[in-house]
Amino acid sequence: MPDKSVKTIKDQIFFQYAKIITKSSFWYKDCSEAKRKAYWFIKQKFNELKSWKICWSNITKEDWEFVGSEKECIYCGSKEDLQKEHIVPKSLKIKEECKTCQNIQSISNQLWACKVCNQKKSDMWLYKFYSKILDDEKFYDKLPSLLEKKYLKTIYNCHNCAWSLDIEKDDISVVDLDL
Ligand SMILES: [Zn+2]
Ligand SMILES: [Zn+2]
Repeated sequence: MPDKSVKTIKDQIFFQYAKIITKSSFWYKDCSEAKRKAYWFIKQKFNELKSWKICWSNITKEDWEFVGSEKECIYCGSKEDLQKEHIVPKSLKIKEECKTCQNIQSISNQLWACKVCNQKKSDMWLYKFYSKILDDEKFYDKLPSLLEKKYLKTIYNCHNCAWSLDIEKDDISVVDLDL
């Protein structure tokens, strides 16, 4: 369950991001381990993100990482039948305009996925998809960093555009809306 101080959509996005920062700072294998071993650090990074003491990098950093990364499916590692997959589906309903907005259409919202995974994911939101492919109740702490960073920044930008970052929600579904 998310921390008690995590209330709004923005909080949830930043909290997930603080976990990723913590994971890479200590070389933990996933965000679950980061939560177990360095919860204090997650909280610290979360508060710093919230108060704008630290800022996440521009999403172009992940775009470059994508361009330079090995060409393989982000979900299963396959190198066959790769397609550019839209991480946040084009059917997103944060705002009507999102169907055609730059956040969703651009390379920032894309990674390689094999045809099989792409079809399986279809219009599903990212965490929901992970809950289906990963038999693990901590599925939302097991996403590859590049994927999750792109996802969080993209939905942040769309929520920002829709003025919905400060809406209060009380579970992980905030990040997904339809989980
Ligand atoms: Zn795949
Ligand atoms: Zn949008």
